[in-house]
Amino acid sequence: MRRIVFMALVTLGFLVANAQVPTPDQFLGYPLGTQFTPHYRVVDYFKQVAATAKNVKLEQYGTTYEGRPLIMAIIASPENAGRLDEIRQRSLDMSNAKEGNNGNQPVIVWLSYNVHGNEAVSTEAAMQALYEMVNNGNAQTQQWLKNTVVIIDPCLNPDGRERYVNFYNTTRSVKPNVNRWSREHNEPWPGGRANHYYFDLNRDWAWQTQKESQQRVAKYNQWMPQLHVDFHEQEIEAPYYFAPAAEPFHDAITPWQRQLQVLIGRNNAKYFDEQGWLYFTKERFDLFYPSYGDTYPMYNGAIGMTYEQGGSGRAGVAVLKKDGDTLTLTDRIAHHFATSMSTIEVASQQAGKIISEYTQYFDAAKKTPQGGYKSYVVKAGGNPEKLNSLAELLRKNNIAFGFGANASGASGFNYFTGKTETFTIDKEDLVINAFQPHSNMLRVLFEPVSHLTDSVTYDITAWALPYAYGLTSYAVKTPLTPAADAPVVRNNIPLSAQKPYAYLAQWNSLRDVKFLSSLLQHDIKVRFTETPFSVGGKDFPAGTLIITRSGNTARGNQFDQFITTEANRFKISLDAVASGFVDKGTDFGSDKIRFIKKPHVALLAGKGISSLGMGEIWHFFEQQLDFPITVVDERNIDDMDWDQTDVLILPDGDYKMLADKASTDKLKEWVKNGGKLIALESAVAEIAGADFGIKQKKEDEDKDGKEKAVVARPYDALKPYANRERESIKQFIPGAIYKVQMDTTHPLAFGYPGYYYTLKQDANLYEFIENGGWNVGVLKKDSYLSGFVGADTRQQLKDGLLFGVKEMGEGEIIILADNPLFRSFWENGKLLFSNAVFLVGQ
Ligand SMILES: [Zn+2]
Repeated sequence: MRRIVFMALVTLGFLVANAQVPTPDQFLGYPLGTQFTPHYRVVDYFKQVAATAKNVKLEQYGTTYEGRPLIMAIIASPENAGRLDEIRQRSLDMSNAKEGNNGNQPVIVWLSYNVHGNEAVSTEAAMQALYEMVNNGNAQTQQWLKNTVVIIDPCLNPDGRERYVNFYNTTRSVKPNVNRWSREHNEPWPGGRANHYYFDLNRDWAWQTQKESQQRVAKYNQWMPQLHVDFHEQEIEAPYYFAPAAEPFHDAITPWQRQLQVLIGRNNAKYFDEQGWLYFTKERFDLFYPSYGDTYPMYNGAIGMTYEQGGSGRAGVAVLKKDGDTLTLTDRIAHHFATSMSTIEVASQQAGKIISEYTQYFDAAKKTPQGGYKSYVVKAGGNPEKLNSLAELLRKNNIAFGFGANASGASGFNYFTGKTETFTIDKEDLVINAFQPHSNMLRVLFEPVSHLTDSVTYDITAWALPYAYGLTSYAVKTPLTPAADAPVVRNNIPLSAQKPYAYLAQWNSLRDVKFLSSLLQHDIKVRFTETPFSVGGKDFPAGTLIITRSGNTARGNQFDQFITTEANRFKISLDAVASGFVDKGTDFGSDKIRFIKKPHVALLAGKGISSLGMGEIWHFFEQQLDFPITVVDERNIDDMDWDQTDVLILPDGDYKMLADKASTDKLKEWVKNGGKLIALESAVAEIAGADFGIKQKKEDEDKDGKEKAVVARPYDALKPYANRERESIKQFIPGAIYKVQMDTTHPLAFGYPGYYYTLKQDANLYEFIENGGWNVGVLKKDSYLSGFVGADTRQQLKDGLLFGVKEMGEGEIIILADNPLFRSFWENGKLLFSNAVFLVGQ
């Protein structure tokens, strides 16, 4: 299809192009849209434009896991280009409710391209957008820049995009093959959508668990733009999607934010109508989950939008659609370019109003915070390490907090009991007052019940941080004033003058696991207690790590120094004891004190396995624990040297090998000989189907009764076609929170109280293990807490097993039916997973 150039003035711009600034076509040596441009060439083009155009500032704000640069171009009028820092600072001040508009403040538009790597058109469109914004022959764009600063990030996910582009360029036909079943239209596992660790970066804005998000959001929060667009692609057949977004909207989104989305949508529509291009709005892409590239800006005062072109990793350079038309990369560029320009145009037209609304947004957030709760208190509860992790997350999201001023009393909603109770605020507790500029984000992250305006949503519907972190918290209806000073954090343990018999470390946070990981890799011998004990007037719960001098004598005099340094490095506290004789419980030589053998861990990957689930585990070992892991492709499992493996992890996925008797027998044999198999999410269902002694709970115990009821009301089957979406959600569970009862005497539950809040994302539940195993985490009758669950599924989710251990010969199978490492933000699950890897079966 012929290239369609957007807007008459843009065409004129091409004719009188600035001689010095090359067009993408001139620079690359081929017309945009005829091939995918490798990332390094995109960077080169941005550098060339920055070097030749007067009003572009190029910044490298970071690097990816694979070492590629993350860049952004800031484009302003010649007048504004000289005062960019002042503009940035004023925007930041407005977002801190410090200073209003001075009448001279341009609106800041931030355009983010290619967060999903295989939606590879976006970066191509970014080059064209950059060119037209600096093309001083284009009177229209130069006019917009008078009151608008445009930030272009051409590629948020270079590693994923490069995976796609390499794949495409190495498999494509000389002349693009439009048959969607040709190899060039079918990416191999894991595809290019996610980053190096297969994380979906468009789910990571608030949590910032990935290097790319950490660096980008830090930069974003230094600018606090007024408009943000996230460019995407969807399936080939879908027409273009732009704002206004679909329900459900979170009720924190203001009428003005909705209204500007409509204005922008109408302007986009105008250009699409002119060209006769198809589009849709108000469906499918909702504004609820806070960690997207549209909601995150929304909860931070900006107008955040998602634009979706039809195409993505399936479309290549050209692909035949079902209606007989060919969708080309050139078409896709034209569409994303059109909405890029149209959005900047509206921003410029509405600049004054946008700035004043933006100022008001933060003033209102500070003076009249929305929602019923005006303060939140998070109890330290003897776990300052976990509290610190939560504090870090708040800091990353500009949320102000302090600590308990003086021990005092208050009354509030207890997240864990669901009741309003009186409680005491201690000095080390975290206190957050809602009267602050970022109260909307605060409320979204802390509200006990998510406010859904509709139940058909795209993602999880519950994420309240007290559940995700497992920290006792209260939502309070009155404002509490926190003390500014943080309490003294327990670290910098001095080297003991006496040589203790043993060091004791607690086991209840991720930092404790990091500490253990380091000790094991340094060949320090570590034990843990299976039962609680008391020594020196202090109680130590089950799971406490014991590092005795005995067995570690090889380190000689360096032993104490090493243990102390490592404890300080991970900011954990240690107790030193002079004797192995305890006051209550078992002495350190008892067989209740278990030796932790350093495990050799293997993780399965490959076709059929969830790349997201697998990537979370890979990232957890490499980037959080810094513990070695061997990733094995499932194809090679039969050839693998099993003697080298102590722990084998099966992430969420379908397993071909479990359908093969010989492979399954080999796996069972390995378990019987002492192997530890950890199955997560749907891998548990696969194991259950392969006769490992685990049974999936039947969907309806009461099926007969139900069928009878249907007969009694025969017209129930006559469901209106128009309601099909509503009907289908009866079995739907996009992600809701359930309270799991834990057997804290089992090592799988060490470090937890008697309960754990799980993010339930499917209806899978297992029958209680009756023989040869342990039901460690179970759902009882009333375990539902928060988030959307379809009526049918809610009925099923009770009286069953989620986390447990099935013994088999010398080894065991550990069942983790829900994902404890979800997006790496479900902080409280990380210890559960670590228990499975390091403690169970030792
Ligand atoms: Zn996308």
